[in-house]
Amino acid sequence: MPDPPTQSPNFPRLLGSYGGDAAGPLVIGIGGMHGNEPAGVFALQQVLHSLHTRRPSFRGRLLALTGNRAALARGCRYIDEDFNRLWVSERLQGMRERCVEPTSEEQERRELLAVMEIALAQRQGPAVFLDLHTTSAEGQPFVVIGDSLPNRRFASGLQAPVILGLEEQLEGTLLNYLSEQGHVVIGFEGGQHASPSAVENHIAAIWSVLTTAGCLRSQDAPEKTPPEQPVLEIRYHHLLQAGDDFVMEPGFTNFQPVRRGQLLAHDRHGQIRAQESGQILMPLYQGQGEDGFFLVRTVRWFWLRLAVWLRRLRLERLLPLLPGVRRHPNQAATLIVEPRIARWFVMEIFHLLGFRKKRHRAGKLLVSRRWHEPRVFEAEEHNQ
Ligand SMILES: [Zn+2]
Repeated sequence: MPDPPTQSPNFPRLLGSYGGDAAGPLVIGIGGMHGNEPAGVFALQQVLHSLHTRRPSFRGRLLALTGNRAALARGCRYIDEDFNRLWVSERLQGMRERCVEPTSEEQERRELLAVMEIALAQRQGPAVFLDLHTTSAEGQPFVVIGDSLPNRRFASGLQAPVILGLEEQLEGTLLNYLSEQGHVVIGFEGGQHASPSAVENHIAAIWSVLTTAGCLRSQDAPEKTPPEQPVLEIRYHHLLQAGDDFVMEPGFTNFQPVRRGQLLAHDRHGQIRAQESGQILMPLYQGQGEDGFFLVRTVRWFWLRLAVWLRRLRLERLLPLLPGVRRHPNQAATLIVEPRIARWFVMEIFHLLGFRKKRHRAGKLLVSRRWHEPRVFEAEEHNQ
């Protein structure tokens, strides 16, 4: 019997591309932002192979990239630091000016950013990013988006529940960074790390995004059935500190219902119980990572439709007229909220109007609008 391979494949940064002759959207698929999640890379390779074999007509361009190459080669989540937590604009700026030895992930970011920036500069249409991940826990796939109307449109084509609000919990993700540049960004969690179905789920997600973007005609993508698709929002995030000795109770799967008070995990402070009833998401069953688990809850259809209407009416323009709310002097998309004056003004209202929580500063809450540019896709939606 031959020896098992001692090394994982050394994936190139550019897995391949397709199209580019006819103007249209630029779709960038990224696999392996976490090195122990190669399913997205395999899926991108298979879709590229299928496109190059069948050669369907294509508007715009698909570009397939790898995330953390060094960690992919070793099969671990990261080498020095989490590659999906260091996409912070101020830090990017600082890194360019600094001369200290960069971490493995900082070098990866420089390279990935350079490739993306060249592609963005050459594009002949709007950009759509698809960031492919897997989870340590078992369970069905799900979609992660910032709650903008174009993002919702792309998410609705994917056969999986949609999670809103993760971007407010996680600082420095690639999804947040690209969203703030005004692009459509879809995060897709394809299933458990090593499960073969995760690759299949990612492949279906890539076809779906290519079709929604208008790159491919739907008859040129493999068949899919319309999903029954719940939308859920993040209600609680259990963030880990160094030395917590966090251990999840065994057997939790993504979307498993939990009751308020149910024992979920232990750490050095004792038991960790559910703060409220809901469904559990991304329980941590691996050594590396700083998110213990999330609790999510279904958003009712009424609120989702209401948000669409409020945003089309552009009601957010009236927000600075309210007491305790004013525009940021330098950032057009940001509002400054006085929590004491606008105390009745709950975050839910900002969510409905397409804002997300940015941070607290000097006792004030900063909220900012999600995207501006992808109105291209929004306009197409109106015409359908
Ligand atoms: Zn991941």
